[in-house]
Amino acid sequence: APIISIRDLTKTYANGFQALKGIDLDVERGEILALLGPNGAGKTTLISIVCGIANPSGGHVLVDGKDVVKDFRLTRSMIGLVPQELTTDQFETVWNTVSFSRGLHGKKANPAHIEKVLRDLSLWDKKDNTLRQLSGGMKRRVLIAKALSHEPMVLFLDEPTAGVDVALRKDMWEVVATLRRAGVTIILTTHYIEEAEEIADRVGVINGGKLLLVEEKSTLMRKL
Ligand code: ADP
Ligand code: ADP
Repeated sequence: APIISIRDLTKTYANGFQALKGIDLDVERGEILALLGPNGAGKTTLISIVCGIANPSGGHVLVDGKDVVKDFRLTRSMIGLVPQELTTDQFETVWNTVSFSRGLHGKKANPAHIEKVLRDLSLWDKKDNTLRQLSGGMKRRVLIAKALSHEPMVLFLDEPTAGVDVALRKDMWEVVATLRRAGVTIILTTHYIEEAEEIADRVGVINGGKLLLVEEKSTLMRKL
């Protein structure tokens, strides 16, 4: 069964604007799916609903067979969201930031898991550094480590490389490749086609609140 199953999902904001106009999408375990679309397409709205931090107007979202709309707290324990902005306390250490994040998700301490996450993200030798001592790229890795701290089933990256330079973008692509090898299921949004092509297995093109197509990367390039 797919890890995420979205059916006829709609969202109309209070001002009457229809941000999602009936989205159907399945995401398989272990795959990397990129949602590609211009600003205003509805990407963040879609991610927010699937992550249980916004309500849809209609339709269904199942994560591992569980209804996200009915039980968002459960969903949050199954999902890890990497936000666009760096919002973490700059005076805390990497180790504390990531292990506190696990506690905030209501999971009991598991230093072995925190160590694995930090090693996977090449943050292990920085574990005692405070965030302000890290480069921008390393800070972004900490955000990912936080989102993986509670062993989620799916990781969401909201525009992971919006507004970053070329070197940082390449670094982020490497991080995603590493996580793929570790078997993490990832959904990310982007408005860079090269990024979707570089890191995803499948690409969904979203515009005007509709999912126009979802294709294996190899067939996408022929259709665009
Ligand atoms: P994307 O992430 O693809 O840029 P969003 O999901 O952020 O798109 O936004 C989709 C559309 O919904 C945009 O036109 C945006 O202006 C509109 N929108 C987002 N949030 C609200 C809101 N709270 N009220 C009304 N319209 C909104
Ligand atoms: P509440 O606001 O109902 O007390 P929480 O304490 O669970 O909800 O979460 C507070 C805020 O933290 C939420 O509004 C949401 O933005 C964010 N949040 C919580 N869990 C997650 C998660 N798994 N992924 C992303 N954001 C989350």
